[in-house]
Amino acid sequence: MSWQQRIEQALSERREAQAFRSRQPLEQGAGRWLVRGERRYCNFSSNDYLGLSQHPQVIQAWQQGAEQYGVGSGGSGHVTGYHHAHQCLEEQLADWLNYDRALLFISGFAANQATIAALAGREDRIVADRLSHASLLEAATLSPAQLRRFQHNDSQHLSRLLAAPTDGQQLVVTEGVFSMDGDGAPLADIAAAARDAKAWLMVDDAHGIGINGASGRGSCHQQGVHPELLVVTFGKAFGLSGAAVLCSQDVADYFLQFARHLIYSTAMPPAQAAALQAALAVIRSDDGQQRREKLAQHVAAFRHGAQGLDFALTDSQSAIQPLIVGDNQQTLVLAEQLREQGCWVTAIRPPTVPAGTARLRLTLTAAHEPQDIDLLLEVLHGNRQ
Ligand SMILES: *Cc1c(COP(=O)(O)O)cnc(C)c1O
Repeated sequence: MSWQQRIEQALSERREAQAFRSRQPLEQGAGRWLVRGERRYCNFSSNDYLGLSQHPQVIQAWQQGAEQYGVGSGGSGHVTGYHHAHQCLEEQLADWLNYDRALLFISGFAANQATIAALAGREDRIVADRLSHASLLEAATLSPAQLRRFQHNDSQHLSRLLAAPTDGQQLVVTEGVFSMDGDGAPLADIAAAARDAKAWLMVDDAHGIGINGASGRGSCHQQGVHPELLVVTFGKAFGLSGAAVLCSQDVADYFLQFARHLIYSTAMPPAQAAALQAALAVIRSDDGQQRREKLAQHVAAFRHGAQGLDFALTDSQSAIQPLIVGDNQQTLVLAEQLREQGCWVTAIRPPTVPAGTARLRLTLTAAHEPQDIDLLLEVLHGNRQ
């Protein structure tokens, strides 16, 4: 089959499965509103959980950073790209999360790829929650190590997989809050299973950092767990983008030698690192606490009001509140109906989620007002006048 034929076949299979993806350019996509062309929708699709993408202090920090440093970093951090703004942010993150070191990456995807690629060798085994994010599972699949997946959130299954003989080291991989179901991991049990097997634990807390635990220190802090590798990302509650890996002194030095995504890639703009410091300051402040409380109120109101709908809620207590519809086509139709009535929601279909579990992935944020949650519920119940 030629390249062209192979591509045409893959596209037509996607279309037939009602799973063809496309993108829409927007005027605004993060915050309370989503603006597309002339029309404004209440935005239930962004990961901007605390509304920080529009926070005046964060915007100002980015502007001032751009004036101070210019807009680009000028190179890899190993050449000229590493600035005081990066160093300062890394120190603040390490101090806040109680690690020796933090290393910045341009995205969570890159951080996960780099971490797994730099660590896992041929003799090793990666044991990952089967619902882990694509960036983790793909990195594990690409690595020369063996990949085993444990049943979602099942620490006993994890222990059984870890008990199989191995000549190498074992790395347990999971998330703080799962991106498609919104549920949290039993991190204390998972950490205990890893410790018993002398495995290291890597937790990706993309959806927990800034939200869970005291002052938003995340799911691990909340559950009293200190994994050897903690990945936090800045595209969600921080309202920007980028990521950091928190680790020991030696592991950080090791990554500076062997993490190819750090060495062969342009560092994030220093102005962005300055804006991330401002976002972190908000997260740690009373303002941040009030935003977390407001978000929790929205989640409670939504879950209460969503009882009696035809669609299943998950166990999620997080900002991610999926409604499991099942059928791809029905999910698309429902998403369209909600949009017509002013609520922007995203239909998530296989292969992003398991077959037969197509869903509306609703996200609530501190940027919403109570009347936004009421509107969403009215539309879902079909009661909107
Ligand atoms: C969003 C997400 C990522 C990717 O982070 P980016 O910074 O968007 O590349 C990684 N892991 C999880 C669990 C995520 O939800």
